[in-house]
Amino acid sequence: MKLKNFKVGIGNVNCYLVTDEEGAGIIVDPGGGKDTILNYIEQEELNIKAIVLTHYHYDHILAVEDLQQELQVPVWIHEADAEGLLKPELNLSSSPSVPSVSIEADKLLQDGEKIKVGQLKLEIIHTPGHTPGGICIKIDDILLTGDTLFKGSVGRTDLTGGSYQQLADSISQKVMKLDDQLEVYPGHLGQSTLGRERKRNRIVKDMLKK
Ligand SMILES: [Zn+2]
Ligand SMILES: [Zn+2]
Repeated sequence: MKLKNFKVGIGNVNCYLVTDEEGAGIIVDPGGGKDTILNYIEQEELNIKAIVLTHYHYDHILAVEDLQQELQVPVWIHEADAEGLLKPELNLSSSPSVPSVSIEADKLLQDGEKIKVGQLKLEIIHTPGHTPGGICIKIDDILLTGDTLFKGSVGRTDLTGGSYQQLADSISQKVMKLDDQLEVYPGHLGQSTLGRERKRNRIVKDMLKK
């Protein structure tokens, strides 16, 4: 497995390309950087099968339509975030400073779903709280956490569709039940491991106490 990270777009979002040994794989959260991503795909001769979104916020989806057209690949999102992907007022692209985005998902993901892409085995973990249909994606020993869990922090819950209680439940009941060795690749900022977050992330520690 190979993971390539690009920091893209307005929100300096972590877009990830995860591919198997033969170059088959997925793009996660292309919030911008269309040309950089396409150049890399061409140069490495990657065979991208899908665009997978950790959640519907505009900063994670701004390059989706362009990439979808260029690569002719489907867009996947959790079923509870499909409406937000369509509605600019929910995905926060309705303000004049941002191009309005409305995308129809091609595949609706569910909690616990296991999907094979090339040799990659994806496991979808529904972790609502930042948005209703936020997900973490586990692939072997890596965990893409979107805006659910960051290095030293967690996603905000004050936006439309957010809930602190849901996020606390997602993190304590689901994410932190996974193996400490897992490498955490969040939607913003740097990478970590679950073990590190268990020890040092004050908000996570607080969520685990209750
Ligand atoms: Zn977000
Ligand atoms: Zn974000």
